[in-house]
Amino acid sequence: MSQTPPDLPLRASFDAQYQASRLQVDVPLSVRRDRLERVRALIEDNAQALCDAVQADFGVRSPDLTEVADLFVLRAMIGQLRSHLPRWMKPQRVSTPIYLQPAKARIQRQPLGVVGVIAPWNYPIQLALGPALVALAAGNRVMLKPSELTPHTSALMAQLVHQRFAADEFAVFLGGADVAAEFAALPFDHLFFTGSTAVGRRVAEAAARHLTPTTLELGGKSPCIIDRSADLAAVTDKIVHGKLLNAGQTCIAPDYVLLPRGLETDFEQAWQASVARLFPTLRGNQDYAAIVSDRHHARLQDLLAEVRAQGARVVEAAVPDAGEGHARQMRPALVFAPAEQSRLMQEEIFGPILPVMPCDSAEEAIAFINARPRPLALYWFGNDTAARDQVLARTVSGGVTVNDTLMHIAHENLPFGGVGESGLGAYHGETGFLRFTHQKSVLVQSRLAMGHLFYPPYGQRFRQVIG
Ligand code: NAD
Repeated sequence: MSQTPPDLPLRASFDAQYQASRLQVDVPLSVRRDRLERVRALIEDNAQALCDAVQADFGVRSPDLTEVADLFVLRAMIGQLRSHLPRWMKPQRVSTPIYLQPAKARIQRQPLGVVGVIAPWNYPIQLALGPALVALAAGNRVMLKPSELTPHTSALMAQLVHQRFAADEFAVFLGGADVAAEFAALPFDHLFFTGSTAVGRRVAEAAARHLTPTTLELGGKSPCIIDRSADLAAVTDKIVHGKLLNAGQTCIAPDYVLLPRGLETDFEQAWQASVARLFPTLRGNQDYAAIVSDRHHARLQDLLAEVRAQGARVVEAAVPDAGEGHARQMRPALVFAPAEQSRLMQEEIFGPILPVMPCDSAEEAIAFINARPRPLALYWFGNDTAARDQVLARTVSGGVTVNDTLMHIAHENLPFGGVGESGLGAYHGETGFLRFTHQKSVLVQSRLAMGHLFYPPYGQRFRQVIG
């Protein structure tokens, strides 16, 4: 197995992968399975080291959280890919219309070639190795650029991948925005980006120069609608879990709540009780992640300071600290009715602050959502199925979970992706496999074909055939 020198220039690596992908277009099941197996072994042999690296990058981030949100997810993906690959790789026969019979037709599924993957920091293993795995399973070569904000994790992943993969199979490139921009400018056969909407735009522009198709897994403000029929005490555990997992640094975390007016006090009490149940202490509690960097922490403090200065009511979680903890373990907060023009209501929050917007009707909640960019996720809580179906029918979001948060992402047969400003394209399950696959149309003509009836010269005979 050759080693990729980590400092091999990007372009040279791309050229090597490109050549290899054109020399071996047909990638058999055994090769794909072997690549999946090497990623599986990479994870299993180094699970503790990977969790420790993420902990070192965040300051505080429970290894248990990394186990479930990064490693467990990857194991599940590998399991699904291993068992479904033989079927997903097969050509798909399609029926032939009467005027082309007795020809036969099928769709042949082929690797695209070289896939670029650019990953964010918030689930730094899952969101880097996950898309890479699916692309490898689909028979592609992969170049990965993980985040510079998780330097321990990214360096470890690079080292582990380079120990197990040839440079022209799977290679990792470390670096910040400059390396990322150079990476995005390569003429990939597909470029898969997970990150912010602002950077996603730049990635799409760079890819367009080569007509490189992209998948853009972006962010945005995911609303959480509470219907009057909901039992608040049952709802807030689920909202607190979705919001405070990784301290709000989750692309599909509920960003804000649309609450029936008049329920503010009940909601606040139920939220306090839920925070205390899930996080009996804050600073010093290993289950409660720190904000990833001082810059991100300062930004969240600024968001709060602005709405405070504008007079919005801010309520902090009342649980005690366990000790000194980490300076970036930020106290969760509710903000009641912040100004719609505040940064808190304009930007994706990506932290443990939950704005609560009182609404007079379900109609108003739907209008609020439809007046904004289409969200990555939407959450609806309640027991009135007619009201639920109204929201499902009249709003457009990447995905929805009803009566819980986050869970639609964990369902292996549901495509995961955004819409509009929250993303383009989806992966997970067979949808993901097809995202990294070319579906080639093949028509095999029969000796008995009647196509000559449509040849010129046109005239009386031709009109009789088509008439
Ligand atoms: P980011 O956009 O700042 O960075 C993501 C990656 O892009 C990093 O690897 C970075 O180095 C790279 N990058 C920076 N400049 C680039 C350029 N000019 N060209 C190409 N790549 C460039 O995002 P982030 O802060 O790492 O992650 C947080 C964001 O990601 C949030 O908006 C969140 O909602 C979103 N996100 C989305 C999903 C999803 O599945 N939809 C998942 C996780 C995070």
